[in-house]
Amino acid sequence: MFVDRALITVRGGDGGGGHVSFRRAKGLPKGGPDGGDGGKGGDLVFVADPGVNTLLDFRGVRLWRAEDGEAGRKKQQHGANAPDRVIKVPPGTQAFDAHSGEMICDLGAGDRFVVAAGGRGGFGNEHFKSSTNQAPRTSTPGEPGEERDLRLELKLIADVGLVGLPNAGKSTLLKALTRADPKIADYPFTTLSPQLGIAPLDPARRLVMADIPGLIEGAAQGAGLGHDFLRHIERTSVLLHVLDAAPLDGSSPAENYRKIRAELGEYSIELAERPEVIALNKIDLLGGQDAGERALQDLRGELRLGADHPVIAVSGGAAMNLAPLLEALWLQLHDADEVMEGWKPAP
Ligand code: GDP
Ligand code: MG
Repeated sequence: MFVDRALITVRGGDGGGGHVSFRRAKGLPKGGPDGGDGGKGGDLVFVADPGVNTLLDFRGVRLWRAEDGEAGRKKQQHGANAPDRVIKVPPGTQAFDAHSGEMICDLGAGDRFVVAAGGRGGFGNEHFKSSTNQAPRTSTPGEPGEERDLRLELKLIADVGLVGLPNAGKSTLLKALTRADPKIADYPFTTLSPQLGIAPLDPARRLVMADIPGLIEGAAQGAGLGHDFLRHIERTSVLLHVLDAAPLDGSSPAENYRKIRAELGEYSIELAERPEVIALNKIDLLGGQDAGERALQDLRGELRLGADHPVIAVSGGAAMNLAPLLEALWLQLHDADEVMEGWKPAP
């Protein structure tokens, strides 16, 4: 679980002012009051839209406000109400009053909430006409829109959790796939807290990915850092198991794969049953794509992986085969059914 935060000010539109005027018509020298009421200011509305994944859009813009209502006019014309301004936020967004800390809303997909109401319009002088006052010169201004400082928080659950031994190349791969900027070094446990990134497949599809620092043997028993970090991946939907194709310590990718799988299984059966994509990484060290494919076949054979178990030969460092990797992850994340829904036979 990761928290994305932003501090903003929201403001509803001001109501339009009421108008003061008197009817003027031929043969009617003393016309009655006809100043119209002002229109309502627009509401500022949050809508949780599944197409939005982060609070990034709120980082650069501090003030969000809706339009003001129109002032009233002569001839009893009511000023126009301003339209509501709808702002898309990611599902799971919580808004708090920045000063009191009080929660204002907690939005699930499709939920809608007025975070700052627009002010009511003022009354025109026609409104103040009475038997005792036939020619009022009074009007009222529009109400100001509601204003609030908000702290937005989004708890992001990663779609994809990276697992693998230290130095398998997880941080490098995450950096190559996403816009995150994890620390990279050649010693184990360089990543002290999970790193998060958003990997864009195309404008409509993104994956939220988390780099989980290296699992170590014994982590399931609570030894070392591993245990804490395992908790972070519990809620991710798909695992990306990163294997070094040419480990420096002379171990084999298959051996290392089994080590991590044993670790996962011991920690949580549920986690071990998550769909998984294996990335046989650093294939640039083997001499490139062809050698990578051969190593991949060897790995399949050694681990006796079924044909439907996705394994992709990649290099995070040399940016090889990254798009097919993202597609494989996407497929695992979304049910085959869902993928088939969009499928149409060729004409
Ligand atoms: P992590 O511990 O799994 O996060 O691994 P890192 O991303 O920190 O990488 C460990 C070491 O492997 C670093 O020295 C990286 O430069 C190196 N490395 C990572 N990916 C690749 C790759 O695709 N090709 C090569 N040749 N080296 C890589
Ligand atoms: Mg790392």
